[in-house]
Amino acid sequence: MTDLDITRTQLEELIAWWPDLTDHQATLYGLTGHSVDMAGVRTIGSSPVETAVLQTLRTQTLIEELEVLAAEWAWRGFRLDGPILLFLHARLPWAAARYPMDHATDLIARAHSIVRVLTGHAPRPTGHSCPGCGKDQLLVVEDERLRCDTCDLTRTPDEVLALTRWRLIANQTLVTRKEAAEILGEPENTIKQRIRRRQLEYELVEGTRHYNLGDLNKNHVP
Ligand SMILES: [Zn+2]
Repeated sequence: MTDLDITRTQLEELIAWWPDLTDHQATLYGLTGHSVDMAGVRTIGSSPVETAVLQTLRTQTLIEELEVLAAEWAWRGFRLDGPILLFLHARLPWAAARYPMDHATDLIARAHSIVRVLTGHAPRPTGHSCPGCGKDQLLVVEDERLRCDTCDLTRTPDEVLALTRWRLIANQTLVTRKEAAEILGEPENTIKQRIRRRQLEYELVEGTRHYNLGDLNKNHVP
């Protein structure tokens, strides 16, 4: 993607997300005419009112700056040229051919990242590491799917769970019988029987018997 493509995509997302801001913000831009609903689904504050205030404070200068940019690109006001974001989007190739774009791309990127957070579209970290690479933190993206930026992959929570189990097994992790039961999804008694049948050896970790998870796996072939 060229810089211009990135800016265009950011503008498109801004246009899509703007209606998720409170109605005050939305109507200010003339982008939507939806009814007043302070209890929107996506909130960043502890209450709808707090969210509305936060959004207003944080988008005020942004709106002013976007207006200045639009004016530089010959926007003649809402009545003649329509909503600012749609105007900027339509004018992008025209402006890129005439002006240095550094300021515009910076401003749009900043607006994009602010509105992304304000409307709840920013990925949330989960605190869990990725089962694929073991490194990066997983982020919650759309539809509660989990994303790893290092692997450049998105997985369902079920896939992540299955992969995490597989990774633990493959890594020869030491676990207690109880932990093995939880990870393998089997009753602790089954694990107990398997230990006896396979005559598995244990290691004492802080006085507790630990077994190799790989050896406890149902399909394990010694
Ligand atoms: Zn990863």
